[in-house]
Amino acid sequence: MPEQPRSRRQTRAAILTHLLQSGGSFRPPLAKSVRLSEASLSRILFDLKAEGLIEEVRQPAPYVGGPTGLVSLDGSVALAGLELTGQWLSVGVGGLTGELHYTERVPLPAKPTVESVGRVFREALTLLRDWTRRRRVRLAQIGVSVPGLGRLSEFGNPIIPCDISRVRGLLGEMFADVTVEFTNSVVAHATFHRCRTENYPFSGAHLFVFVGQGVAGAWMDDPIEDDALQPVELGHMVFGADGPRCRCGHHGCVEAYTSLPALAELLGVLEPELLQRGSDWGGAIPISSRVRQELRHRLYRLGLAIGNTLNVKPCHGVAISGWPSLLAENDRKALVDGVDASLLGGRKHAQVSLAFVPPSNGNDPRAALAFAAFCLACRGGMPAASTEAA
Ligand SMILES: [Zn+2]
Repeated sequence: MPEQPRSRRQTRAAILTHLLQSGGSFRPPLAKSVRLSEASLSRILFDLKAEGLIEEVRQPAPYVGGPTGLVSLDGSVALAGLELTGQWLSVGVGGLTGELHYTERVPLPAKPTVESVGRVFREALTLLRDWTRRRRVRLAQIGVSVPGLGRLSEFGNPIIPCDISRVRGLLGEMFADVTVEFTNSVVAHATFHRCRTENYPFSGAHLFVFVGQGVAGAWMDDPIEDDALQPVELGHMVFGADGPRCRCGHHGCVEAYTSLPALAELLGVLEPELLQRGSDWGGAIPISSRVRQELRHRLYRLGLAIGNTLNVKPCHGVAISGWPSLLAENDRKALVDGVDASLLGGRKHAQVSLAFVPPSNGNDPRAALAFAAFCLACRGGMPAASTEAA
């Protein structure tokens, strides 16, 4: 198949997203993976370096006569992230390579409304403006992560009341010269894992499933594609109209059985306690055999929801992040069995591989910051509205 000609922006985006996902690369393998001659790559790297987007550090050669300059993203580029959760709005400033410079959390009221969430955004953005002004930090990109954000958001957010056009207006007032992108929180978490998890299990198209405050998925593809990141609301697959009430307003959604709040209720602990215990909750909280059976039953349901999603749009890889990834293998098996039981032809026949990646609950605003880095890389580090020059 003949290669599509690429614009300058697309070529720069291919280099920057590759560096973002790999954490750094020597020139020869970088040229190979972005399909450029070393001479062409050299010219573009010269520009990117002059613009302060990348750096090249001399490293001991991995083999005799091998390359010695390791190309990576420039750590001095500053990004801001805003991440809306059920309890607070977190705001932070970080670098392209994942370091965190500043973070603050502004609590949400117990019963948030469009007005009060708007005020919380104003407060967080004021903190951000003051912090960046005091330190003369110039932001290259702002990423905003909102749960439940999707195609229908113009008609109101079913998860947390939040008027995106109002927040966009605030950002335009306070950060007029900074590019801003909004996304669904599952897309932000997917981006975080894709860019910041060492040895992330998939490089091609796959489904990412996040089990946190809610349960949601994202289709992941080559970052250069226009629809590289697409949220999929698999958490609102209804399993029983007489089941527990879900935060979307319906009853019996898979999320109402398997989200973090649902898990806390089943185990009889408070959700913050579960988060504090982190990776060893499974060993630290006594689980009766009745509760364990129910836990497995719920994991099986989650597996059914994932399998059904793959029936609608087949793909060969599923990465799962959240509390199920902390379980012992024999507990996780219930989830895998659920996928097997609903997927047409079964998991083996459909050649689907499942991988568990560590949870990223409670790490806000790191997911929003990773998304901001991704947005900057995808526009090739160029101004958002600039005209294309091939
Ligand atoms: Zn629901």
